[in-house]
Amino acid sequence: MHIKLTNSMGREKQTFKPLKKGEVKIYTCGPTVYNYAHIGNLRAYIFADVLKRTFLFNDYKVKHVINITDVGHLSDDADEGEDKLEKGAKREGKTVWDIAKFYTEAFYTDMNDLNIINPNTYCKATEHIQEMIEMNKKLEKNGFTYIAEGNLYFDTSKFENYWNLIGKKQEEENQQSRVVQDKHKKNKTDFVLWFTRHKHGNHAMEWDSPWGKGFPGWHIECSAMSSKYLGEKIDIHTGGIDHVPIHHTNEIAQSECAYGHKWVNYWLHNEFLVVKDSEKMSKSTGNFLRLQTLIDKGYSPLEYRYFLLGTHYRKKIMFSYEALDGAKNSLKKLKNKIIEAKKEKSEFNKEKYDEYYNKFQESINDDLNTAQALALVWDCLNDKIGSETKLKIIDKFDEILGLELLKEEKVDIPKEVIELAEKRWKSKKNKNWEESDKLRAEIESKGFDILDSKEYYEIKKK
Ligand code: AMP
Ligand code: ZN
Repeated sequence: MHIKLTNSMGREKQTFKPLKKGEVKIYTCGPTVYNYAHIGNLRAYIFADVLKRTFLFNDYKVKHVINITDVGHLSDDADEGEDKLEKGAKREGKTVWDIAKFYTEAFYTDMNDLNIINPNTYCKATEHIQEMIEMNKKLEKNGFTYIAEGNLYFDTSKFENYWNLIGKKQEEENQQSRVVQDKHKKNKTDFVLWFTRHKHGNHAMEWDSPWGKGFPGWHIECSAMSSKYLGEKIDIHTGGIDHVPIHHTNEIAQSECAYGHKWVNYWLHNEFLVVKDSEKMSKSTGNFLRLQTLIDKGYSPLEYRYFLLGTHYRKKIMFSYEALDGAKNSLKKLKNKIIEAKKEKSEFNKEKYDEYYNKFQESINDDLNTAQALALVWDCLNDKIGSETKLKIIDKFDEILGLELLKEEKVDIPKEVIELAEKRWKSKKNKNWEESDKLRAEIESKGFDILDSKEYYEIKKK
């Protein structure tokens, strides 16, 4: 079955054609590790995870790379402002290396908590400086660079396809709105490939290079690492929508001018997660919601994942605790239905299984329609197709949803609650309803619920 994806390059839904049959190479722009990832950032990786799982579901071999930006990303995408890592180091009184290490680990923890499959490679910018230098040398040799005040710049006027990703219409807007403070740039859109002390004074992370001691511009890392791990042509590149006008536009310019051919076939971008008070989501001010904030408030990471899956990745999603409560309750209901189904016994119905499988694959292959896929989970659980079939279908769907729907939750139930539940079961069997109700109330006051079935009961955390 075909997979259709909306390609930002051309802004249309296209049928995916791999470079190599049965294989897909995906590169995902990763985090800048000067602070925790906020819940908006995490949307970008859950989207990439669903994309990857969709290919696995369709029996593709997937090669996936995510980079870690631990150097060179200034607070302004267009080469101005402070280095984000140095800003983090100043804020916390640590070295830039410590900052990068700490927030990289925190990022891995978030990824694991959200049940995101590890990429084949996580690559750090600081470990690939030589590759970036080599790429810059290629660009210099091919005549796309100039040096001004000791820094190496990319000359965007020499790449005629520079505006292809952003499109003609937005080109004009962008041309007008780009503010350029750097008087050494020949064109507004030019960007730095290598910074030396001339532009930024002493920098905590510096390396020798043909252009002098310094550090790489932000964009070059993705081009250099992508080609190292995935080759000079790749199928898909992902990132948040904010990367379209500068970061990805510049990545394309430098890669295609270095290699002399098209670099990426499909550009996929997730829309933003927004909160009413947009101040809260700014990673640079430090005032934002992160996954741990949600966990501290009693939500599980998979409840957040469920919340995101309810909206198409190309649509803006408004975060609120009310909306997250809705997702939490839905997921709880879903899991309770699954627990019920597990208690029943029935024959497997292959015809019904195939019917649901096909519908599910159709939804997810249609530009990752996760909202429709979730609706199918509910349809199947409410359908009279027998528990065996339901559970097999849900198990298969969960390969993409990644919600661990069939996993039993391990809850530590205190001994006293177990004793009360046993006592209650006995009084219920003896039809001593008054006592059994009293015991139920006591159990509930300790934060647990009792779910009865014909044969026995189950203790659940509220
Ligand atoms: P950063 O760590 O700032 O480089 O961002 C990591 C990823 O998150 C990038 O792909 C961004 O495009 C994406 N991103 C940033 N803010 C949001 C947001 N509010 N919603 C969704 N994605 C975002
Ligand atoms: Zn990137």
